[in-house]
Amino acid sequence: MALIVHKYGGTSMGSTERIRNVAKRVAKWTRAGHQIVVVPSAMSGETNRLLGLAKELAPAKPDTAYNRELDMLASTGEQASSALLAIALQAEGQPSVSYAGWQVAIKTNDAFTKARIESIDDARVRGDLDAGKVVIITGFQGVDDSGNITTLGRGGSDTSAVAVAAAMKADECLIYTDVDGVYTTDPRVVPEARRLQTVSFEEMLEMASMGSKVLQIRSVEFAGKYKVPMRVLSSFTPWDIDINEEAASGTLITFEEDEQMEQAVVSGIAFNRDEAKISVVGVPDKPGIAYQILGAVADANIEVDVIIQNLSKDGKTDFSFTVHRNDYTKTLDLLKEKVLPSLGAVEVLGDAKICKVSIVGIGMRSHVGVASKMFRSLSEEGINIQMISTSEIKTSVVIDEKYMELAVRALHKAFDLDQA
Ligand code: ADP
Ligand code: ASP
Ligand code: MG
Repeated sequence: MALIVHKYGGTSMGSTERIRNVAKRVAKWTRAGHQIVVVPSAMSGETNRLLGLAKELAPAKPDTAYNRELDMLASTGEQASSALLAIALQAEGQPSVSYAGWQVAIKTNDAFTKARIESIDDARVRGDLDAGKVVIITGFQGVDDSGNITTLGRGGSDTSAVAVAAAMKADECLIYTDVDGVYTTDPRVVPEARRLQTVSFEEMLEMASMGSKVLQIRSVEFAGKYKVPMRVLSSFTPWDIDINEEAASGTLITFEEDEQMEQAVVSGIAFNRDEAKISVVGVPDKPGIAYQILGAVADANIEVDVIIQNLSKDGKTDFSFTVHRNDYTKTLDLLKEKVLPSLGAVEVLGDAKICKVSIVGIGMRSHVGVASKMFRSLSEEGINIQMISTSEIKTSVVIDEKYMELAVRALHKAFDLDQA
């Protein structure tokens, strides 16, 4: 008997018919003798619908009680889908109980809309499992020290599932979704993308942080920190396929590098349309400038990603960086109002029509010429590179948003990712 956490995404929970299928699949796992905890997402479209209603009533304002209410609101999507799944399981003759995050409790900090899990009390859940029930825990949400409901950021149910698996020392965390695993790149953009049988934890971490939305990055961080065995697989196979076949399907996230020895230099390509570029032009080239600009941005709680500073000409330089698109206007206003006057810079320019494309692979550590191959392939397509950033196992470029798909397809081909 194993303890296994199943996570089902929004599309997998998207209708009563699909919820019934999830229930049948989960019941199959319990009949095989396993204890199952299920973490569902809200039914697809529901979180967007709820947040859209809030937007109709009031535009988002930072530093108000608004974010608390957004969490109160958005968390109801998961509460509904969890209760529906419990009902569907009971209709299948499988005893089950659903809990909201605060009932478990899943304790988080109080950073509304992007809270972090701090602890999980599993006593109640264990009691129910031992009594033969399937336990359903709402994804995406928790509770802070003052009893307020919090949410974990978009896509956060992945993180709930892995955190529950870590806290309960589950044997495995199975992430059921609408694709049958992790691909070399988003199969919706490149139809030739191939499913990876395994992907190393480090590569998965880079792919998720570079924009691959198949897993929320924090879920991968949790899996790495607590060594949670994790697999991404399809919820769209017939529910009654052989359980051993199902258990071995999809993509396994591995922690041992040896298994990756034979792998390609580049394993995957990620892209991210959520960033915007800010350039501060004509800044005096003297000590303390980066701190003056980025310090002000950090103080406003805005995360910065890629940064470049040009060579100075006549004692002046240009300084560019990217931020999340949601923070774009806020950053521009901040720099114009607070930083520009004291800096003596000429102007602040912004470009929200950019994207970041990244190649990821642990093979890059031991191979030279990988980045230059990337640059050559982009130049052959006539794509201008605006910014570059590298780490040991990835190279990212910032380019014009309109070339994103072209760039991803060209790189996928250049690195032979469509070849088995
Ligand atoms: P869920 O609702 O199950 O959490 P998501 O929409 O969050 O599902 O994530 C699954 C989607 O991630 C897929 O439908 C696919 O379009 C996208 N995706 C992006 N990059 C990849 C990749 N490298 N491999 C697989 N899917 C990817
Ligand atoms: N329902 C939430 C969202 O749409 C969380 C999730 O699905 O993982 O972002
Ligand atoms: Mg998701």
